[in-house]
Amino acid sequence: MVKLKKEKMDGGGGETGRIRLHSFSGGKTMKKKDHQHTREEEKLREAEAGLQEMFRDMPYEIPVLLFARKNAKDPFVQAAREVIGVIRAVTPKITLNEYELDHDLARKWNIVRSPTLLFDPDRTRIRWMGAPLGEEGKTFIQLISMLGFRNSGISDQSRKILARIKTPRKVRIFVSVTCPYCPQQVVNIIKAVIENPRMISLEIVDIQVNQDLAEEYHAHSVPQTYVDDVLIARGAQPEELFMASLEKMEEQRIFIPDSDAEKLEADLVIVGGGPAGLTAGIYAARSGLDTVVIEGEALGGQVATTPMVENYPGLTQVGGKRLVDLLVSHALEYVKIFPGEEVLSIVPGKRLRIQTTRRRFTARAVLLATGAVHKHLDIDGESRLAGSGVSYCSTCDGPLFKGKKVVVVGGGNSAVTEALNLHHIGVQVILVHRRDTLRAQEHLQKALFESRIEVKLNTEVKKILGDKQVEGLELIDNRDGKTENFPVSGIFIAIGYDPAVELARKTGVELNEDGFIRHDGRHRTNIAGIYSAGDVEGGFKQIVTAAGQGSEAALAIFEDLSHPYWKNVKRDVTKD
Ligand code: NAP
Repeated sequence: MVKLKKEKMDGGGGETGRIRLHSFSGGKTMKKKDHQHTREEEKLREAEAGLQEMFRDMPYEIPVLLFARKNAKDPFVQAAREVIGVIRAVTPKITLNEYELDHDLARKWNIVRSPTLLFDPDRTRIRWMGAPLGEEGKTFIQLISMLGFRNSGISDQSRKILARIKTPRKVRIFVSVTCPYCPQQVVNIIKAVIENPRMISLEIVDIQVNQDLAEEYHAHSVPQTYVDDVLIARGAQPEELFMASLEKMEEQRIFIPDSDAEKLEADLVIVGGGPAGLTAGIYAARSGLDTVVIEGEALGGQVATTPMVENYPGLTQVGGKRLVDLLVSHALEYVKIFPGEEVLSIVPGKRLRIQTTRRRFTARAVLLATGAVHKHLDIDGESRLAGSGVSYCSTCDGPLFKGKKVVVVGGGNSAVTEALNLHHIGVQVILVHRRDTLRAQEHLQKALFESRIEVKLNTEVKKILGDKQVEGLELIDNRDGKTENFPVSGIFIAIGYDPAVELARKTGVELNEDGFIRHDGRHRTNIAGIYSAGDVEGGFKQIVTAAGQGSEAALAIFEDLSHPYWKNVKRDVTKD
C-alpha cells in the first residue's frame, strides 16, 4: 500500500517531483485490524489524490514498454505491471505495451532479461531491469514526473558539467528495493540522461532479480554505479559530485560550485537530516526561526538502515525507514530540506557563511547534527573487498546473500539487529563476537537465541579472504590462539560508530578527549553561533535521545538569538 505526501524538498525532480512514496505494513492483532484497515484505506485514497495532483497537468506522453518472459508468472513481472497500473490509473499520459523476449522489439533494443522496462525509448535510453518496488517506487514516480514534464530539476552547476560531456557514457547502477541510499543516486543519473540524452544512457539493475549480473560485477553492495563498466561510485553522491564523477569517469570527492551559485539566507542552518537534525528543524521553525536542513546522504542517518526499531515511544515496532519517512514528513511541514547536498565549509562570524556543493547560505546560527559513521575493523581485505562481500548495511545488501552463509561481527545492539534481519531475509548467519558475552539488550539477545542463530564467542576476525569477492574469513579463538579458515560469502561489520566530526574539526569546533563535539549544557560549542546535537555529542546513542538533544538545541538557539523576556542571562552569539 502506498501513501504520498507533498514535500518541500529541493532537488527532487523539479517543481513536480515533490512527492514521497511510503510503504506501510499491516497491523499485528485482530483487535487493531478494523481500525487499521480504515486508516490504510484513507492512506490509499490520500496517495491516489496525491498522485492525481502530481500528474494532473503533465503535458507529455510516456510510452512504457514492458518485456517479459513468455507465460511468465514471475512475481517481479506482476509487480512491475501493478506499479505501472497504479500510475496509469491517475494519468492517461502513460501507455503500456507488453512484449515477450522473442519479439522483434526485444531484438531491436537488445533485451534479454525479464522484466525489463523501457521508457519513451525513442527519446531516452533508460532501461529498468527489475520491478520498481519499495524504495525504488519513489524513484519510479520521480522518473515519470521528470519525463512527463520534461523537467529534470537539475541544478545549474550540474547542467554546466553535463554540457562538457561530449562522448557517450553508458551508466549502470545496481540497486535493491530496500536500499534507502539508492533513489538519490538513481535520480542523479536520470537527471543526467534527461539533460543529455544523446550522450548518457542508463541501466538500473535490481540485484535481486539479476543476481547473476551482480555476481559478474562482484557488486555485493548497493548502490554501485559504473560508467562504461568502470566503477565510479559506491553509495549515493550529492548531485554535483555525481555529475563531476560522470564527466571524469572516476569518483570525485570534492566539488566546489562556481562563484555565481545561488546564495540563500536563513536564521538557522541545520547540518544533518537524522533524528536530531529533523527534530531541531521542527522545534526551531515552530519557534519562529527561518530554518533549513541540509543532508549530504540519506535522510534519517543510521535509522534509515535500521531494520526494525522497537524502543521509540509510541511505536511498538516500526521499520527504521518507515520511522524516517514519518520524521521527514513531519519536518517538511515546517522546514525546507536540502537532500543530496554536502556542506563543505562553515565560516564563523556575525552571520555564519555555509558553503555547500550547490550553493552558499548565510545564517545567524548553525546546528551540527552530523551523526556518526560506522567503524571499520581495519583488517586485511576489508577495504579491498568493500562492496564485494564486505558490508555495513544488511537492509541494503542483505537480499543478495539469501541462501548464503555470512558472518556478522559485533556484540552490541547493532550486530544482533543486523543478524536477526539477515536471518529473516533467509541468509544463513553466524554472529562472531570477541568476548564471552554479548552487550546487546536482553530483549534482542532473547530474539537471537530463539531464532537459533549460531554465535561464536571469544572469536575475532583476523583477515577477510578472497580475490574479487569475499570467499572466507580467518578467525582466531582468542582463548587459545587457534586460527581457522571459515568459508563465507559475506561479512557484515556492526561494531559501533565513530562521530562524524570532520566538518566540525575543519571549522575549529573543539572536540573532547573521546572525539565528540565539546558542548555546554545548552548545546553551544566553543564557536559563537555553532551548536551541536545527537550522536556527534556522544552519550547514549538512541533515536529518542538524539531527538531530545535536537529539540533542546533548537530551543537554546531560539533563546540565544531572540533574547526572550523570560531569560535573565542573555548571550548574543553574534557578538561573542
Ligand atoms: P556498541 O554498543 O558500541 O557495540 C559495539 C560492539 O562491537 C561491541 O560488542 C564491541 O565489543 C564490538 N567491537 C568494537 N570494536 C570491535 C573490533 N575492532 N573488533 C571486534 N569487535 C568490536 O555499538 P552498536 O551495537 O553499533 O550500538 C551503538 C549504539 O546504537 C548503542 O547505543 C545502541 O544502543 C544503539 N543501537 C540501538 C539499537 C536498538 O535499540 N535496537 C539498534 C542498534 C543500535 P566489546 O563488547 O568487546 O566492546
